[in-house]
Amino acid sequence: MRFAVLGTGTVGRTIAAKLASLGHEVTIGTRDPQATLARTEPDGMGTPPFAQWQQGHPQIRLATFADSAASADAVVNATSGGGALDALRLAGADNLAGKLLLDIANPLDFSQGMPPSLNPVNTDSLGEQIQRTFPDAKVVKTLNTMSAHIMVDPSQVPGEHDVFLSGDDADAKKAATDLLVSIGWPAGSVLDLGDITTARGTEMLLPIWLRLYGALGHADFNFHVQSARTTA
Ligand code: NAP
Repeated sequence: MRFAVLGTGTVGRTIAAKLASLGHEVTIGTRDPQATLARTEPDGMGTPPFAQWQQGHPQIRLATFADSAASADAVVNATSGGGALDALRLAGADNLAGKLLLDIANPLDFSQGMPPSLNPVNTDSLGEQIQRTFPDAKVVKTLNTMSAHIMVDPSQVPGEHDVFLSGDDADAKKAATDLLVSIGWPAGSVLDLGDITTARGTEMLLPIWLRLYGALGHADFNFHVQSARTTA
């Protein structure tokens, strides 16, 4: 398949590299490819400049959000929570229509300092905002509850642990599940929570994820739901 991975940060790079390693054609989307390639310093989180990363992944093309989405069969949103709607508007509603749109972003709001809060929260979610703004896209929220390296290599956390799905389109969730399984997720670890409003729940896991990160001192962990019953 042809994937557009929107986002040049750690998540975008990690997902793009994994999809390319599975034989998919991958383009990474950014606001301004020349500006992105011109960066020479690590960002505030210490992430190396994009051009340095791309040297090790020459098969992955960098393009504008619009160009990458236009040529893709499916789109991954790996942009910052506050910039996601703008990034997707730049990608273009027509280029998203009818396509699986995997949303990995979290609506972290750093405007009040650390730790970040969530915006939106409780009665809305970024996943819902994206689905409302792009009604013809098939939004599936997933993978947002773990660190990027776990997303593409679940074996880095021993034992059973889970990845959640939220979305309105059953076929899109089936396609997302198949993709997760191809990445290495056991089918039984993919928990479909229901429609896109359930993204409120997974986005609201971020405050506890951040506290766990602080308490454990590392990001090599994930959530696991141990149920006493196999069906609801
Ligand atoms: P990030 O720094 O959060 O986002 C980088 C991307 O956001 C860049 O492509 C940037 O565009 C784009 N962007 C930022 N502001 C924008 C704006 N105003 N308009 C349009 N685009 C904008 O990268 P990340 O750390 O890889 O995280 C990506 C997403 O995944 C976030 O929502 C994060 O919460 C979520 N997430 C991260 C992790 C993790 O392990 N880091 C885990 C789970 C979920 P340019 O390329 O043009 O600069």
